[in-house]
Amino acid sequence: MTRPLLGCIADDFTGATDLANNLVRAGMRTVQTIGVPDDATASVEADAIVVALKSRTIAPADATVQSLAALRWLQSQGARQIYFKYCSTFDSTPQGNIGPVTDALLDALHGPGQGFTIVCPAFPENQRTVFKGHLFVGDVLLSDSGMRQHPLTPMTDANLVRVMQAQTRRKVGLVAHEVVSRGAPAIAQRFAALRAQGVGVAVVDAVSNADLLAIGSALAGMPLVTAGSGIAIGLPANWQASGELAMGAHADSLPQASGWRAVVSGSCSQATNAQVLHFRQQGRPAFAVDPLAIAAGEDVVAQALTWAAPLLAQGPVLVYATAESSAVQAVQAKLGAERAGELVEQALSRIAVGLVNLGVRQLVVAGGETSGAVVQALGVRQMAIGPQIDPGVPWTAVQSATWPGETLHVALKSGNFGSTDFFSKAFTLLEAAA
Ligand code: ADP
Repeated sequence: MTRPLLGCIADDFTGATDLANNLVRAGMRTVQTIGVPDDATASVEADAIVVALKSRTIAPADATVQSLAALRWLQSQGARQIYFKYCSTFDSTPQGNIGPVTDALLDALHGPGQGFTIVCPAFPENQRTVFKGHLFVGDVLLSDSGMRQHPLTPMTDANLVRVMQAQTRRKVGLVAHEVVSRGAPAIAQRFAALRAQGVGVAVVDAVSNADLLAIGSALAGMPLVTAGSGIAIGLPANWQASGELAMGAHADSLPQASGWRAVVSGSCSQATNAQVLHFRQQGRPAFAVDPLAIAAGEDVVAQALTWAAPLLAQGPVLVYATAESSAVQAVQAKLGAERAGELVEQALSRIAVGLVNLGVRQLVVAGGETSGAVVQALGVRQMAIGPQIDPGVPWTAVQSATWPGETLHVALKSGNFGSTDFFSKAFTLLEAAA
């Protein structure tokens, strides 16, 4: 039985998957849970666990309570290092939630006001770098990027020392790039010097993958790390060096896939429109869900399932509400955008459940919100992260409360992700991975 080495708390669902994906690619078998599992005795077989919360923009007190519950559960699983994951654009307000959650986790791990951790949202591969404590998005400061106008967490200051100091009770310091570039021992020395000066939280510069790896090495043994998903690439090497994590293990291997195959698509983004078209042009079976028919009271769910049942044995089927923007606007003008979205999400998630009842065990879902609705309807509790189909979209093996003992393979593709042939490619990859 493997005890997890790393226990992560992510402040949103897609951020959790992003982190899990990085950990798998860096060699750790990773399981993502949806919220804190209610069964305290349930044990997870993995090198890393990522608990996905939805705490980014809720009240700071609630975010703190949820994060502490996640911490306690991860500790009960045996996690040796805790990783608090937030967005690479540091999405937060002066009230939180990054500062209050960091304070609460440090208090719990070290005692009130004690302890030391880092802040580092850098992920150079995704155009997020930190230099002299300032966060850059591509070539511009965070405060000059689109994040300036974010509806919930407008980021109008790129100086992370200042931004973090407004949110935390602890003193904030900086590990500048001139130190980071000298490597792990210099970084560790600077951590010690800052601690001696009473600093509890250090913003760390990083502009390249080499920086992330050096920082990762300096973080060995630190009880709490707070970061975006980038820092994760430097942590597995610490346990490989100590012999606790196998080198070159196939961290992305999943149980063998079985059953029928289906795609459920509620995304109307350009990429998804092209993927739906490509699938249909290959002559594969596809059923269009009409939001106006749902609103008119037709039993679209039953229609889709009756259509799909005799086709499943022949290969993947597609059920889609995906439409071009003019069609979406026409529907929204009649039903209202929110109601249209909700009707479609409900119908597609009931269709997904119906498909699994018909024997589908390999399911691709397109659309971020749609994925959330489907995951909830399927009663997903845990997902083991497997091979990547396209950047940011891995196959996962899911355990569900509704089908205990069954393995269901699910790929959740949000909006503009994936190549045009994504739907067929996904199933081919799963076959090849077996
Ligand atoms: P994406 O990841 O591409 O943004 P989402 O699933 O997050 O996709 O969002 C798409 C939203 O559009 C969902 O709420 C979905 O229910 C809704 N939707 C899907 N098809 C239609 C349609 N034909 N008309 C109106 N709304 C739709």
